[in-house]
Amino acid sequence: VNGRHDKEKGVNVQVILRCRPLSEDEIRLHTPVVISCNEGRREVSAIQNIANKQIDRTFAFDKVFGPTSQQKDLYDSAIWPIVFEVLEGYNCTIFAYGQTGTGKTYTMEGGGRKKNGEFPSDAGVIPRAVKQIFEILEAQNAEYSMKVTHLELYNEEITDLLAPEECTKYVDDKSKKPIALMEDGKGGVLVRGLEEEIVSTANEIYKILEKGSAKRRTAETLLNKQSSRSHSIFSITIHIKECTPEGEEMIKCGKLNLVDLAGSENISRSGAREGRAREAGEINKSLLTLGRVINALVEHSGHIPYRDSKLTRLLRDSLGGKTKTCIIATISPSVHCLEETLSTLDYAHRAK
Ligand code: ADP
Ligand code: MG
Repeated sequence: VNGRHDKEKGVNVQVILRCRPLSEDEIRLHTPVVISCNEGRREVSAIQNIANKQIDRTFAFDKVFGPTSQQKDLYDSAIWPIVFEVLEGYNCTIFAYGQTGTGKTYTMEGGGRKKNGEFPSDAGVIPRAVKQIFEILEAQNAEYSMKVTHLELYNEEITDLLAPEECTKYVDDKSKKPIALMEDGKGGVLVRGLEEEIVSTANEIYKILEKGSAKRRTAETLLNKQSSRSHSIFSITIHIKECTPEGEEMIKCGKLNLVDLAGSENISRSGAREGRAREAGEINKSLLTLGRVINALVEHSGHIPYRDSKLTRLLRDSLGGKTKTCIIATISPSVHCLEETLSTLDYAHRAK
């Protein structure tokens, strides 16, 4: 089960599963654990034995990380090889998928703050990827240019997290800069009006990230936990100058998308209350379309429904073809999350 790999079509989708530990509150309340992870066998089991409700299901993934797994373990074994491919000229995407509160943001961003220049041990995938990229470029003494974009997708509407304050909808809805998605005629999309920031050091990227997640946190308090219902896409594009053995100059281009998806609980709650109905539907649309697109890629089916959601349109040049995709599905071990956990396991397993 080493990831679906098809050399001719270049499709490579890897699905990994991470279960967070019980929180302090859950431990204090003696919350029963219904998930067991077997990292060696790459299996996760959901087991519940209540008289009228017996559940015993086991799912296999490309990699499994249990509650005691550390950020570094997950990165070094599952993500490092993918980021390496970005510098070889691949477009790669790493998704965090799961119910709100299961560790998507912890896995992608991490809990740590940088203390006097030290790299925190709970730094997540994004800061570690940035660090790795610069380490490799420096080791290769490469000539390169790099740019980043950071956007949020909410209700099929794009917000630029890099845009100057006065342009974002959180400050003044009316002055919001319109951002439009357009096909570029070459199979990709152009996001008109999206800020691109040229960067040349890891620290510049850390600062941009900090600003973007601060904006998401503000939005969360202002707009009633909006961030759990929005997708965040942080992209790094790198152009590297190369010389062929014949002395010809070439530009190699790779792109890394780091995506913290909306809470997947929205997918099963389409019967939400009136005001939420449209929203739930739109969130459903992106998450469901993403599932279908990945499924179609893995199955090599002829029609890939990219066009059915903004999320998949945005990521079109990084899904399918010569690309690598990794889905990190996150779950909680608690009995109270079992229903959502099973739906996450099903979704993630279908993508395999
Ligand atoms: P999500 O983004 O999926 O809503 P968060 O990343 O915010 O979830 O995680 C919810 C809480 O659980 C946070 O307090 C986070 O620090 C903690 N947490 C999540 N995953 C882990 C983990 N693997 N190890 C330790 N704490 C975790
Ligand atoms: Mg989150």
